[in-house]
Amino acid sequence: MTDCLFCRIVKGEIPAKKVYEDEHSLAFEDIDPQAPTHVLVVSKKHVAQKEDAELIGRLHLVAAEIGRQRGIEDGYRTVLNVGPKSGQSVFHIHVHLIGGRPMKWPPG
Ligand code: AMP
Ligand code: ZN
Repeated sequence: MTDCLFCRIVKGEIPAKKVYEDEHSLAFEDIDPQAPTHVLVVSKKHVAQKEDAELIGRLHLVAAEIGRQRGIEDGYRTVLNVGPKSGQSVFHIHVHLIGGRPMKWPPG
């Protein structure tokens, strides 16, 4: 989708600090980090809905691997914001990997 922010990052039209890439996914630093680690793992194809179970699994496995590489396995979150009330602002499937600091429960 030409007007989708994450599609434009995947195509290289908008710069991002990439941390990982494979055939299906791209991971890059969030522009407005909420923790020492705040990485977005996005699908390379534009998927707005959550019907693709294999793809969702892949994105989480990539997030877990980045968590391992960064040594934050003692506590991190993988978050899917879904819908405007959750704060979702980009409607292209992505997993937030957030960690590197203590976190409260429940989230806000
Ligand atoms: P969500 O609110 O779940 O849709 O997540 C969208 C995320 O994209 C937010 O955490 C934003 O800070 C992040 N974001 C917006 N623009 C950019 C950008 N140009 N590069 C990296 N992250 C971005
Ligand atoms: Zn997109």
